[in-house]
Amino acid sequence: MTLQDPSFDLAVLGGGSGGIATARRAAQYGAKVVLIEPARLGGTCVNVGCVPKKLMWHAAQIAGTLAEATGYGFDLAPHSHDWPRLVERREAYIRRLNGIYRDGLDRDRVSLVEGCGRLLPDGRVACGDQVVAARHVLIATGGQPQRPAIPGAELGIDSDGFFALRTMPKRVAVVGAGYIAVELCGVLRALGAEVTLIVRGQRLLSSFDAMLGETLSAELVQQDVHIRYGCEVQRLEQQGGSLNAGLNDGTSITIDTLIWATGRRANTEGLGLVEAGVALDDAGHIVVDDWQNSSRDGVYAVGDVTGRVSLTPVAIAAGRRLADRLFDGQSERRLDYANIASVVFSHPPIGTVGLSEDLARKQHGDAVKIYTTRFKALYYGLLDHKHETAMKLVCAGPEQKVVGVHVIGVGADEMIQGFAVAVRMGATKSDFDDTVAIHPTSAEELVTMR
Ligand code: FAD
Ligand code: NDP
Repeated sequence: MTLQDPSFDLAVLGGGSGGIATARRAAQYGAKVVLIEPARLGGTCVNVGCVPKKLMWHAAQIAGTLAEATGYGFDLAPHSHDWPRLVERREAYIRRLNGIYRDGLDRDRVSLVEGCGRLLPDGRVACGDQVVAARHVLIATGGQPQRPAIPGAELGIDSDGFFALRTMPKRVAVVGAGYIAVELCGVLRALGAEVTLIVRGQRLLSSFDAMLGETLSAELVQQDVHIRYGCEVQRLEQQGGSLNAGLNDGTSITIDTLIWATGRRANTEGLGLVEAGVALDDAGHIVVDDWQNSSRDGVYAVGDVTGRVSLTPVAIAAGRRLADRLFDGQSERRLDYANIASVVFSHPPIGTVGLSEDLARKQHGDAVKIYTTRFKALYYGLLDHKHETAMKLVCAGPEQKVVGVHVIGVGADEMIQGFAVAVRMGATKSDFDDTVAIHPTSAEELVTMR
C-alpha cells in the first residue's frame, strides 16, 4: 500500500508475534498505526516456528500412538506415512493463518506496508522510497538461524530449511542441544529417519534443570537416536548424493541432510539502528530497559530482537503491555520476565517453570529442598516399550515456596500452564500438598510428592 498521510502515532517494524500484537492493541486504543513487514504475516512463529513445528510434533505423536496401538488390542493394517501430503496440508493451514492475520490488521485499521523498514537518523521510518513520521517506533524484527563458520556449512540446512523439506530425509544429523535440536530430532526419528544428534557439550538442554536433559537423553537413546557428546562438525562435504560431516574426534558420518540447530541471531543489521542512536549489545540484540525502551527516546523493541526469553507469548505480552502504557495511560504496565513457563516439544515433552535446582541453590544456598519422582505413566501399563516420566519440585526458604516445577513425560506439555499460575502466585509446598489429587493422572504426582 502507498501511504497518503505519512504521519502516525506508532510505526512498527515487523509483522510477527510481537509486532502484530502491539500494533493491534495500540490501534484498538485509537492510535493511528502503520506496520511494515517484508514477508508473510505472522513471523517466525506462524511460518517457520511454533505452528508448523507443533503440527509436525502431532504427526510424530500419532506415529507413536500407531506403534503402540497393538498393546491396546488394535490390529492395524500395515501403513506408511506420506510426508509430502503432511507438508502440503501444514502449509495450507499456515496460508489460512496468514490471511487471518491480515484480516485482523484490517479490522483494527492498521496500515500495512510490504517491504523492509529502517530507521532514519532523524527518527522517521523508511520503507523503500516511502518515509513516515511516527511519535513512537517499535522494532520487532525478530531473529534468524545462525550456523558455525566451518567449510561447507552452507551444504547443511537450518530450521527454516527443515520446514522447506518436501521429502523426508532418511539419514539426518542434527547439530545442537537446545530447543530446536531436540524437537526436530524427535519428529524426524518418530517419522522413521535415522538420526544422529551432535552435541558440542556434555548434556542436552544445558540451560534447563539437569534432570530434564538427562532423562531426555536416556529416552532418545532408547528410541535409537545416536547422540555424540563432546562433538563438533569441522567440515561438511558433498559426496555424490550424500553429505560427509568430518567431526573433531577424527571420525566422520555420512548423511542425507545436516540440520544446524545452533542458535539464532537478532535481525538488527541494515536497520540503521546504531546511526539512529539505538544501542545494541555484543550479540547484536537491541538493548532495552524493563519498559522495552531502547536507548533512543520514542524507539522501543520487543521479542526476539531483544534477546530476552525468545518465546512467542513473551513477545506478545511485552508488546501488548507497551501499547497499554503508551496509548492507554497505564503508566506502570510492563512485562515481568520472571517465572515464564515453557514447553519443549520433544518426545517425550518437557514442561518447566521457575528456577532449576542449580540456580535455586545459587540464589538460596542451603535453604533449598528438592522433591523428585520417577515413574511409568499408567498408559504404558499395557505396553512393552515404556517411557519414563520424571518430575522435580524446587522449594526455597523456611516456608518452602515452590520456585521451580520441572516435568518430562507424556502430558507434561499440557500440565505446566496451571502450575505456572501457582508458582507465580507464590504457592508453597504445603499448598501443593493441600490440593486434592486428580486420579488417575500423571499430574497428581505433583501434589503428592514427599
Ligand atoms: P518474529 O516472529 O520473528 O517476527 C519478526 C518479523 O519481522 C518477521 O516477520 C520478519 O520478516 C520481520 N522483519 C525482519 N526484518 C524486518 C525489517 N527490516 N522491516 C520490517 N520487518 C522485518 N516459541 C514458543 O513460544 N513456542 C514454540 O513452540 C516455539 N517454537 C519455535 C520453533 C522454531 C523452529 C523457532 C525458530 C522458534 C520457535 N519459537 C517458539 C520462538 C518464537 O517463534 C519466537 O520467539 C517469536 O516468533 C518471536 O516473535 P517476534 O515478533 O519477536 O519475531
Ligand atoms: P538454543 O539457545 O535453545 O540452543 C542452541 C544450541 O546450539 C545449544 O545447544 C548450543 O550449545 C548449540 N550451539 C551454539 N553454537 C554452536 C556451535 N557453534 N556448534 C555446536 N553447537 C552450537 O537455541 P535454538 O536455536 O534451539 O532456539 C532458539 C530459541 O527459540 C530458543 O532459545 C527458544 O527461546 C525458542 N524456541 C522455543 C521453542 C519452544 O518454546 N518449544 C522451540 C524452539 C525454539 P550449548 O548448549 O553448548 O550452548
